[in-house]
Amino acid sequence: MAVEELYDKKVKCPVCETQFTSKKVKYSKLRVKSKDSDLLTYYKGENPLKYNVFICPMCGYAATEEKYNDISNDKKAIVRDKITSRWKEREFSTPRVIDEAIMCYKLALNCGDVLAFKKAYNGGLCLSIAWLYRMKNDKKNEGKFLGFALNLFVEAYSTESLINSSIDEITLAYLIGEIQRRLGNTDEAIKWFSNVVSHSLISTKPKIKKLAREQWNLVRENQKG
Ligand SMILES: [Zn+2]
Repeated sequence: MAVEELYDKKVKCPVCETQFTSKKVKYSKLRVKSKDSDLLTYYKGENPLKYNVFICPMCGYAATEEKYNDISNDKKAIVRDKITSRWKEREFSTPRVIDEAIMCYKLALNCGDVLAFKKAYNGGLCLSIAWLYRMKNDKKNEGKFLGFALNLFVEAYSTESLINSSIDEITLAYLIGEIQRRLGNTDEAIKWFSNVVSHSLISTKPKIKKLAREQWNLVRENQKG
């Protein structure tokens, strides 16, 4: 593991105010190698995906870096009541192998679930877990977490506002279509790719438009068999 790719980010827990450090990949060291059709990016060296979750060693509050400080006082009380009460102090400041990264995401997913964070956010955690399983070639668990991500994304799409969310409506619809395709649900995949391509704002997302067309063609070709 190339430790010099990583640095210590100082974080202050918004729940218990403990200061701790969490590893991050230096931006200057990031070199994209390839991308999967469901938007997983591979890098030469460490993948920043592994370090996207911060976990407070003292109270157990876990969330992605982007979400970390976005927690209301009511939800802080829920962390103390439902998470910290069962938490044993432990360290997460070291480099993470893939299994450790999966565990960090699962702790964040448990927090997201207990705190009823948005389904789009919790679905994103499930998709990240599926990606980490893909990196270790564990197809069974990859499929399981793609299924969880799918259910949460479909619910998010029909019931949640995506304002202030890290994902937009078009990208979410594309991901739903692509996960359906990966899980073998051909008709559903076609329906969602069609939604993406005919969306009124699709011209604002040329990369997603191109991907949706490509994956739609792929599904149709496979259908012809
Ligand atoms: Zn804390």
